[in-house]
Amino acid sequence: MTFSHKDRKQTIQEAAKTTYDVLIIGGGITGAGVAVQTAAAGMKTVLLEMQDFAEGTSSRSTKLVHGGIRYLKTFDVEVVADTVRERAIVQQIAPHIPKPDPMLLPIYDEPGATFSLFSVKVAMDLYDRLANVTGSKYENYLLTKEEVLEREPQLQAENLVGGGVYLDFRNNDARLVIENIKRAQADGAAMISKAKVVGILHDEQGIINGVEVEDQLTNERFEVHAKVVINTTGPWSDIVRQLDKNDELPPQMRPTKGVHLVVDREKLKVPQPTYFDTGKNDGRMVFVVPRENKTYFGTTDTDYTGDFAHPTVTQEDVDYLLTIVNERFPHAQITLDDIEASWAGLRPLIVNNGGSDYNGGGKGKLSDESFEQIVESVKEYLEDERQRPVVEKAVKQAQERVEASKVDPSQVSRGSSLERSKDGLLTLAGGKSPTIA
Ligand SMILES: Cc1cc2nc3c(=O)[nH]c(=O)nc-3n(C[C@H](O)[C@H](O)[C@H](O)COP(=O)(O)OP(=O)(O)OC[C@H]3O[C@@H](n4cnc5c(N)ncnc54)[C@H](O)[C@@H]3O)c2cc1C
Repeated sequence: MTFSHKDRKQTIQEAAKTTYDVLIIGGGITGAGVAVQTAAAGMKTVLLEMQDFAEGTSSRSTKLVHGGIRYLKTFDVEVVADTVRERAIVQQIAPHIPKPDPMLLPIYDEPGATFSLFSVKVAMDLYDRLANVTGSKYENYLLTKEEVLEREPQLQAENLVGGGVYLDFRNNDARLVIENIKRAQADGAAMISKAKVVGILHDEQGIINGVEVEDQLTNERFEVHAKVVINTTGPWSDIVRQLDKNDELPPQMRPTKGVHLVVDREKLKVPQPTYFDTGKNDGRMVFVVPRENKTYFGTTDTDYTGDFAHPTVTQEDVDYLLTIVNERFPHAQITLDDIEASWAGLRPLIVNNGGSDYNGGGKGKLSDESFEQIVESVKEYLEDERQRPVVEKAVKQAQERVEASKVDPSQVSRGSSLERSKDGLLTLAGGKSPTIA
């Protein structure tokens, strides 16, 4: 069957009389990625999305296939290794989507700075090894203060000590979802948008065996049955789980809102994506990304309880981002009138999921002294003078010295989780785009 709105009615009719191997609720990157895998494995698959495909968080990200260099501050080598491995796979199968776009990391000598020039070089070297770019044209390098300012003359010069440049990639988040949706459909999966799951069905034993669906175009209701039902609704995960009367698991999501603002490129001139500490000593970092003739920047990270389908940008969000960007780019002087567009997305963050994040805060703050000890250990590890467990111990000790912190939104993990309730409902959610699930 072709993938066309003309076939939608027929696809729904067939779905209503088929028992699938796998039924996926939610057509963001997580659901689309699962569908690609199950369809390719020959499983009879159906995906139901209540809006358009990718209309949730998966079209509202920073649009980077970010390798997560920040993770290296706490030596989360696995997280970085996984991310760069996934990225390499996406590059192979969809070379038209991730584009190499080296990132500039200006380094400031100020309290709470994530990196010093010394530690950023160690982190970038380790990163290059993990990303397999050591010795290539994308290998990292350091810039002097003067070189950074030559590239980005609008940047704050005060306390600037130099910068690091390392390989990162830009993404087209919604397009990546659509490519996965199309691939799964081509492999035989039924992919239906504007189809909202409104109820969970069970067999006589109380085991989940399907869902009730409301067609958002006609308001008609129908049932779809499957052996396995997987909830990949991101920030909506708990809402969908609440539809399941036999789901005994406690709520697990803590959605946080992230806002981006867009200005004309002439207003904020950066030749390449730039990533820097907020300067507020809050452990957060902000991206400024040029695209075509515009520049966008973000994000915020605040708890969110409003309308999940339409998170909005508040004056507080704008004030927060303008303050940070105007402090880092004092020559830009961006005002409210310069903002041409904005978007807001909800991170599907999981409470109590330990780990570090990729653009917000971390598990707590390491003191500079602790971090230097880690850097030394990592250096020795890279020079094959130390074994990995020794480095891990150094990291653990440093972490133990971290003050128990109040868990602010930026400290909730971007890791993902797969849970199975007693009746068999699977829920897969997490805070970072699985570039390919
Ligand atoms: C501001 C921000 C910046 C980010 N930047 C990056 C980045 O640069 N790089 C990166 O890798 N990651 C980034 N992320 C993280 C990444 O975007 C998300 O982890 C990812 O998009 C989550 O995808 P998802 O499929 O789990 O959720 P979603 O994309 O939200 O998909 C869930 C889908 O489920 C649907 N749904 C909900 N309820 C129902 C129902 N009852 N029936 C049917 N369908 C339903 C929704 O309509 C939605 O389309 C960012 C996130 C945010 C918020």
